Amino acid sequence: MSEPAGVRVLDDFAWDEVWGAAKGAAAPCFQCGVCTAVCPWGLVQKEPVNVRRLIRLAQLDADGWGEAIWLCTTCALCEVRCPRGVPVSEIILALRRLAWERRSVPKGLPTMLWAVHWDGNPWDQPPSQRQAWAKGLDLQPFTPEHEVLFYVGCTAAYDRRSQKIARSLVALLRAAGVSFGILADEPCCGESVRTAGQEGYLAEVVAANVRRFEEAGVRKLVAVSPHCLDMFRSHYPPWDGFRPLHYTEYLAELLDAGRLRFTREVRGTVAYHDPCYLGRRHGIYDPPRRLLAAIPGLMLAELPAAREDALCCGGGGGRMWLETHAGERFGDLRIREALGTGAEWLATSCPFCILCLEDSAKVLGAERLKVVDVTELAVRALGEASLPHPALSPTGGEEKGEGAPVRGAP
Ligand code: SF4
Ligand code: SF4
Repeated sequence: MSEPAGVRVLDDFAWDEVWGAAKGAAAPCFQCGVCTAVCPWGLVQKEPVNVRRLIRLAQLDADGWGEAIWLCTTCALCEVRCPRGVPVSEIILALRRLAWERRSVPKGLPTMLWAVHWDGNPWDQPPSQRQAWAKGLDLQPFTPEHEVLFYVGCTAAYDRRSQKIARSLVALLRAAGVSFGILADEPCCGESVRTAGQEGYLAEVVAANVRRFEEAGVRKLVAVSPHCLDMFRSHYPPWDGFRPLHYTEYLAELLDAGRLRFTREVRGTVAYHDPCYLGRRHGIYDPPRRLLAAIPGLMLAELPAAREDALCCGGGGGRMWLETHAGERFGDLRIREALGTGAEWLATSCPFCILCLEDSAKVLGAERLKVVDVTELAVRALGEASLPHPALSPTGGEEKGEGAPVRGAP
């Protein structure tokens, strides 16, 4: 067999390694190239990422995947389009795993992994500051008597912008009369470890977290981030009664049960951006829209690419920890789409999406468009009496977050 340029044919051992790492998942690929055609990198770079070739290399006894494996945001657009159901991003993560063995990884990822190891979060922040976001809220430590564990996650705990999402969600849970608690020693779910391709270390993180949750008697868990939700739903072993939910699902349940009511008008138009890890990964398209539709006075506009077709914000797949050059940010495209709808707000329900989209809105000078989380609009629709703590500042306020400053989105 002749070797394509830039491709190194591996020996039998390496073939087993590639095949084993990808668990044979590349086998059904018949090289149609749909994945390359739909990958959003083709919208921001002259040369699209040749996804088809990466899968071919994983099928063959061939190395030579280069830097392309680190670009994948694991957005799953190619996966929902692939006619053979190939789990493209899982194969790419398997190739990242091999890249670690070859010590061929981008700068930034080792630092992030050490931060998870020493500080329990990828943001390189001190564990002593993990509860700083909740200052003044008088939250209770979780006990099995609580209805739910509020799992805040590293980004909403440490990133100043994202802390507002966590505080808004506290207001909504309280307005609905939910009894909930938090873990004082809340662990990182391990998502950044997984997307970095560190499967061995991830197994340790998951095992330790399952022990911690079982000890605490956790059953129903409500997560802020779709990335944490994905970990708990798809990459943790299920245990008796464990039910991880995204907050949009849980709030929609509360709405249906009549426990959550929006009584104050919020006049304006909102466009909704589907986070990849909520929409394509878990099919959660309706709950966030139902929440927005339940707010009196609020009109919902759809972006041109919505639901299963939604364009990624660019922050998944470990890209939060890597540099994305100006002009190559998917968020810029999304902001232009949102501006085209005439909406005042671009709402979403993922802290990574918020950071990427807000960063793009600033770069593009899109001042008339505010990037907000669904919780931040919902909290505005609570009646005055429902706001349980004066320290809560619905979106639009200038309230500063608590704790140490952390770096923003790339
Ligand atoms: S879309 Fe699926 S079958 Fe087609 S080249 Fe990509 S992975 Fe292979
Ligand atoms: S998962 Fe998304 S970013 Fe990754 S190869 Fe597929 S389309 Fe491209």
